[in-house]
Amino acid sequence: MATIPITVAKGDGIGPEIMDATLTILKEAGAPLEIEEIAIGEAVYKAGHTSGIEPSAWESLRRTKVFLKAPITTPQGGGYKSLNVTVRKTLGLYANVRPCVSYHPFIQTKHPVMNVVIVRENEEDLYAGIEHRQTDEVYQCLKLISRPGCEKICHYAFDYARLNNRKKVTCFTKDNIMKLTDGLFHKVFDEVAAKYPDIENEHWIVDIGAAKLADTPENFDVIVMPNLYGDVLSDVAAQIAGSVGLAGSANIGPTAAMFEAIHGSAPRRAGQNLANPSGLLLGSILMLVHIGEAEMAERVHNAWLRTIEDGVHTYDIYDESVSKEKVGTKEFAQAVVARLGQKPEQLAAVTYKKGTDGIKPFEYTPPTPQKKELVGVDVFVCDATRDANKLSEKLLAVAGDLKLKLITSRGVKVWPEGAPETYCADHTRCRFVAPEAGQTITHEQIVGLLQRCAGASIDFIKTESLCTFDGEIGYSLGQGE
Ligand code: NAD
Repeated sequence: MATIPITVAKGDGIGPEIMDATLTILKEAGAPLEIEEIAIGEAVYKAGHTSGIEPSAWESLRRTKVFLKAPITTPQGGGYKSLNVTVRKTLGLYANVRPCVSYHPFIQTKHPVMNVVIVRENEEDLYAGIEHRQTDEVYQCLKLISRPGCEKICHYAFDYARLNNRKKVTCFTKDNIMKLTDGLFHKVFDEVAAKYPDIENEHWIVDIGAAKLADTPENFDVIVMPNLYGDVLSDVAAQIAGSVGLAGSANIGPTAAMFEAIHGSAPRRAGQNLANPSGLLLGSILMLVHIGEAEMAERVHNAWLRTIEDGVHTYDIYDESVSKEKVGTKEFAQAVVARLGQKPEQLAAVTYKKGTDGIKPFEYTPPTPQKKELVGVDVFVCDATRDANKLSEKLLAVAGDLKLKLITSRGVKVWPEGAPETYCADHTRCRFVAPEAGQTITHEQIVGLLQRCAGASIDFIKTESLCTFDGEIGYSLGQGE
């Protein structure tokens, strides 16, 4: 039988134990895998590779394009980069898929009916990792949301729903506040939803959406979200389903994919044959589906469900009222192996669609560029006096051929006519526009303004161009503007 090469990393802490258990089950099930092992994690970090992966490992990942990864321990302290983020970004793994399912009554849960899949955007948002300390008091993290990023993840969510016979895709954003960034995500979600009339769609503001997810998860099916909300809420969803220790996750890109458990390396449990291998095993089942081994995925998944149903439980899910046997990692794996070919009797058996070639990567076509016009500039200024009126006098003196329109501190107007209650931090955004409404300005005018600021010892931090796109404003107004 032809075998499929995959790259495997055993990781740190409980990683080697749960990976051995997972590989034993896959091997005994007859999964046609050819395993290439690479080293990642703590030892690699400590050997001087700041991203926790040896340069030679990329060659295996690029060749097999399928990565089954155990959790790793990220050393504390500065200088070390997250291996997960490095792998996701380097291989362009834009979709993070996390099924969160409850197994009532066999595993304790507040939500007996829960089967939610979180589809998290995996490459951008606040995770672009662009942060700056701008003044004594103020730090900034850039939130970047792109149209291709939104199109890719929203198409993925609807394609996933269609392939997996799911009925509804929900979108969570905070576009009542972040009208441009989250607004774009919501807008693209609506555009994409219109192409899938067979699948229901809805949008919730993330705060009330999260509350509803935690309260009545049975009302959700697939949920698509920008990176940060997805990171937080997929852990919440997994935990309220039963345990974060039970969830697997897939990171999917156009050419490669990575599969893992969502939990970490639990160092305190390492080396004691205690850890539950279920999260990684469920991750490996997502991998089997991805590589076209739907039948094998079904075989392993149903044997696992039967094991859970038979009350063979590791310490983390053991509960005297339902569990029958408390087992270690190895014994749990053997219990799953013994049930290969069986199906659960009370929990619903799983079926995976066979003979499909999975979800095709979405091909992004850039739209016709809109007419971009420069209409002003925000100059961010560090002002240790924290006195907007005094700062305005200095700025009016250097405004030249531009008009100083307003000054805000952390987005709230402090000049002209700032409210006396508003705290003015040492960080201000000073908005300059053309003298007449509807006029454009030039880059030369911005450079001239900055030169005059430098001459007047105004400590500018950065500028942001104010543009319109086909006449539509491409920037937010200051609160109170
Ligand atoms: P963790 O998920 O490793 O462990 C939290 C607790 O959950 C553990 O103490 C343990 O009681 C329990 N637990 C987790 N997985 C379990 C399992 N399979 N079986 C039984 N019990 C389990 O989280 P942490 O303690 O915050 O992080 C430990 C290390 O893992 C850190 O170095 C962190 O950076 C890393 N981490 C790695 C990944 C990854 O590689 N994907 C993800 C998260 C955290």
